[in-house]
Amino acid sequence: MIIGITGTPGTGKTSACALLENVLDLNELIKKEGLHLEVDKTRGSLIADMDSVYDRVHEIAQGREGNLVIEGHLSHHVCDVAIVLRLLPDELERRLVERGYREAKILENVEAEVVDVILVEAVEWCDRVYEIDTTGKTVEGVADTINEILIAIGRGIAIEIEGYEPGSVDWLGLRA
Ligand code: ADP
Ligand code: MN
Repeated sequence: MIIGITGTPGTGKTSACALLENVLDLNELIKKEGLHLEVDKTRGSLIADMDSVYDRVHEIAQGREGNLVIEGHLSHHVCDVAIVLRLLPDELERRLVERGYREAKILENVEAEVVDVILVEAVEWCDRVYEIDTTGKTVEGVADTINEILIAIGRGIAIEIEGYEPGSVDWLGLRA
């Protein structure tokens, strides 16, 4: 089984996963193996070749004993179970400003977080989805929470884990 740790860029996936063992960085894999189609000139970013990414990730998963854990904002396109990291949009905006993203890119990502784009995609494409509100959590705290969910999935007992059900985060409701 492939478990994907996903979420809008800036929600803290790479930071938290750096504290966990054996998590494959999907963006690194795409770059390293050239699994992209072309450069998106207006955005200055690479467009991943999702068919190749899907095939490669499944190939890696087949050579593994247990579950394969991957992280990246595209991972819910190729995983069976998704763990979606969420972050209060105002805090996300602060982080992306700090990261030096262009204004249009910041707006695009903050809006995507507000309206649950990745969560909705994950629910559509994955067999099971968990959602973590990382707002106010330290990197260690987020890593511990991911680990707790991974352990429950590994034991095969977790269909739903209280507090991490998909739909538990609602930024629009919060603002209303
Ligand atoms: P992602 O991989 O989801 O794009 P990163 O892990 O690269 O996100 O983190 C984005 C930025 O937010 C980095 O500057 C990082 O230091 C910071 N960050 C990540 N997690 C936390 C956290 N739990 N609390 C505060 N800052 C964080
Ligand atoms: Mn990352």
